[in-house]
Amino acid sequence: MLAMKKAHMQKADVERLYLPVTEGGRGLINVEFMYKSQIVKYKQYLNEESDYLIKAIVQHDTHRDKYSIMKEAQEIERELHLQQKNIHTNKEIKDAIIKRHNEAWRSKQLHGQFPKKVLDQANLYKELSFKWMKRQQISPSIEASIFAIQDQAVMTRQHQRDILKEPVDGKCRLCATKDETTQHIISGCEKLAGTYYVKRHNNLVQYVYWCLAKKHNFEVSNLWWKEILTQPQVIENATAKILWEMPVQTDVTVTHNRPDLIYIDKNKNRTFLIDITVPSDYNIGPKEIEKLSKYHLLKAEVSRLWNTQATVIPIVIGATGVVARSIRKYIDILDTNIDISILQKQAAIHTSIIISKVLGDTVFVHNTQPEQHTLRDNIAN
Ligand SMILES: [Zn+2]
Repeated sequence: MLAMKKAHMQKADVERLYLPVTEGGRGLINVEFMYKSQIVKYKQYLNEESDYLIKAIVQHDTHRDKYSIMKEAQEIERELHLQQKNIHTNKEIKDAIIKRHNEAWRSKQLHGQFPKKVLDQANLYKELSFKWMKRQQISPSIEASIFAIQDQAVMTRQHQRDILKEPVDGKCRLCATKDETTQHIISGCEKLAGTYYVKRHNNLVQYVYWCLAKKHNFEVSNLWWKEILTQPQVIENATAKILWEMPVQTDVTVTHNRPDLIYIDKNKNRTFLIDITVPSDYNIGPKEIEKLSKYHLLKAEVSRLWNTQATVIPIVIGATGVVARSIRKYIDILDTNIDISILQKQAAIHTSIIISKVLGDTVFVHNTQPEQHTLRDNIAN
């Protein structure tokens, strides 16, 4: 039914439906496991009860060949790796069920790549990477497409060639140089760099700009998405100066002299070089390091020339909204009401749009004959 209503993409992972949101799941209740946990609890109740009638029931039940609560409960305990003789709290049973879903998810060859290579990385902020879906309004079908992208359950040419063993060459339909993988389409195709990726990126910059401007009482629209940045600009008042896409003049040659935003907090005499990027989810750690080193020289020059304390702020949001632990630190340094969940939602929704614009709307459905006309139509649009 979820698939029929497009709230779950057919080839996306089923285990994830029943994992809590903070574990990277959809947070639905699984009736089968609800039943199983009740049977385990029922067994515990029967064993603990000292009433002679209950004891008689237990004795009878243990000797039944069919429909024995005790035997069924033992079976479930084995399945969930619960110690059979112990009394288990509700939390222990729940944790065992979560663990079972998590293991099943990670053991899958294709779907298991995202949890193993992205979520299980030490620097990844797992809870924050998914909480935004609860905080921000998002349609079930967009949510489903974001999960399907993470599961790589997307009908790319590489998927057709390597997984479905169809006679296609597997190269990207736009650039024709790299394999057409999900990661390539959402963040690696040079043909999309100047269009869809820029749009996604600028959307995030626009929001951060608006937050900074609002904090310092600049005249801005009441709604951040109406504050559209069109050309490089500088705004300044008594407490702050904000530069968007403006290069910095320096004494020595600095190659990277134009971060997305330069924010000068005059009250604190601090300057923040803010650069925002939406890389593949697999690449958020390296991107942060890359941004820090890229603007290291500019930071030193700005500190010296402007007699200020300059700081590089890399804001790295994975293409489907996943974030590293450090994001909180960087956002806190800016001391502005930036809602990380808005950044995550914008990045993920744009990524979902990119996938369906490039590959066509039927991309999440397992068609044996993918439609051929979608690329031409999309370029025309
Ligand atoms: Zn390409």
